[in-house]
Amino acid sequence: MRVAGSRIRPLDPHVVNQIAAGEVVERPASVVKELVENALDAGANSVEIFAERGGAGLVRVVDDGVGLPPDELELAWRPHATSKLSAAEDLETIATLGFRGEALASIGAISQACILSRVREAEAGASCENRGGVIGPVRAAGAAPGTDVTVHNLFFNTPARARFLRSPRTELGHIEELVQRFALAFPEVAFRLVHDGVELFRTARDEGRLDRIAQLFGRDVAAAMLPVKAEAPAGRLEGFVSRPALTRSHAGDLHFFVNGRSVRDRLLHRIVRDAYRDLLPGGRMPVVFLFLEMDPAQVDVNVHPTKAEVRWRDPRFLHAVVAPALSAALHGADPGPPPPGREDRVRGAVEDFLRRERGVASAAPPAYGLAGATHADSARPLRVLQVHDSYLVCETEEGLLIVDQHALHERLNYDRILARLNEGGGGGQRLLVPERVDVSPADVGLLEERRDLLQRCGFLWSPFGPGEIALEAIPALLTRELAGRVFHDLLELFRARGGGVDARTLFHDVADTLACKASVRFGDALSPEEIAALLEDARALDHASVCPHGRPTAMRLTLADLERHFGRR
Ligand code: ADP
Ligand code: MG
Repeated sequence: MRVAGSRIRPLDPHVVNQIAAGEVVERPASVVKELVENALDAGANSVEIFAERGGAGLVRVVDDGVGLPPDELELAWRPHATSKLSAAEDLETIATLGFRGEALASIGAISQACILSRVREAEAGASCENRGGVIGPVRAAGAAPGTDVTVHNLFFNTPARARFLRSPRTELGHIEELVQRFALAFPEVAFRLVHDGVELFRTARDEGRLDRIAQLFGRDVAAAMLPVKAEAPAGRLEGFVSRPALTRSHAGDLHFFVNGRSVRDRLLHRIVRDAYRDLLPGGRMPVVFLFLEMDPAQVDVNVHPTKAEVRWRDPRFLHAVVAPALSAALHGADPGPPPPGREDRVRGAVEDFLRRERGVASAAPPAYGLAGATHADSARPLRVLQVHDSYLVCETEEGLLIVDQHALHERLNYDRILARLNEGGGGGQRLLVPERVDVSPADVGLLEERRDLLQRCGFLWSPFGPGEIALEAIPALLTRELAGRVFHDLLELFRARGGGVDARTLFHDVADTLACKASVRFGDALSPEEIAALLEDARALDHASVCPHGRPTAMRLTLADLERHFGRR
């Protein structure tokens, strides 16, 4: 479309940079990523990360790497200025983390930033500011050897993007997860993360990978690990995979690194799943850390600006080297310690759930304490109590969390059912003896029209004489007793909705009906296992905090709330 009277003209370079910035800088964690990569590329032994307000107020990365001479400071802020690449063919053989030369320019275009740097041999350092793309003069400045980049007020001049920022907690969660991944990939480098003045973690230099895993994921996880190793001309594999006794309900603990980059990759994912086939119960996932060192010409990391994905030139290495190494590690293994007991499982599930609830998507044990946490008592087990067969009262580091068991379960079931419906169904269980349900002849017509949908839900039925049908299969989530009633509810729904309703709406209604019936009720006494399962499932959910009807699933009372109530402050 063309606005009348407008003309094609070149974009102002500031605008170009702001647009490019949007591609690289999604959120404060993206800034941390680029700055830490630069520090690592500069050969740093120590990388300190400071953030304020989830990184939106400040991101600062201080390294002890080679530094930049004063006459290169201004250049570093310019787009496509890089010391790492000079010809297009170099793109094939990139060994450094950064190479596009656009990160600093992008960051400077949408923040108020400053580089302060000193080359080790130099007497003094220099600094250079970049305020929303306006590069300032280079000034002499005192500095320690290395580079110190500060980025204030991210998105200050792009309010549309600023609005996409989530809460500081959430943004901090992304930063924590990212720094943890760097700490795993570079065990020889010391990392430190400080948020709003609180040190969240610190790792020493030259640790082993297993030490890092213990520190970041807990001793239990480290103790359950089996080493994996393999070498071939095309590359090298090193890492750890969990014994079958340690599992997760989600794939969030499959950690893959290629040449020091954390990557997501479907093929690796599949290879891990295959290796564990028959070793894990259905739906469970292992904890895996795989580090691949490949000839840079073998992997294309230039697929996406933020480089989270790779493209394999030749995936044979994965099939011929990685897959057998995983199998060897797993099948040569003794079964490992017995699965954790009931109490541990409840505690683990509660901790995980609470972490999700806080919106900090961190896989770390609470041992470091989260930003703003004021308690040193995180080693104490978190406790949970079911009251009035209806509510789960959980002790948290910050106070109390009260969960409505029905609302939470309903939320979980709703999402599960909807996902299954959208995927095309399944999940039915055959009945040995069909369940008979009374229906009117008119209803049979309605059911016939919706046969496909019902099948997706898991219902299989056939006519059974006048005024009756026989249910041959029912959704796996339902008991036989409930199935007949739910079937009637659905029929009710079809009558009310008439013919012309679209599949999406119907899916939601059906999921709603099924979820409500299949969920634990208010007034159901739950066993510790059931409580653990409920809370554990909740952690896989992004929006566990409201039920499908929009009612909250949980209520939080902080210690401060309690103190206020009791007049203690
Ligand atoms: P890239 O990393 O893709 O080259 P950047 O925009 O991130 O592009 O950085 C531009 C250049 O600035 C780098 O090529 C490097 O020469 C220099 N640089 C950036 N950060 C540092 C640092 N922490 N230490 C030393 N040099 C750096
Ligand atoms: Mg870079």
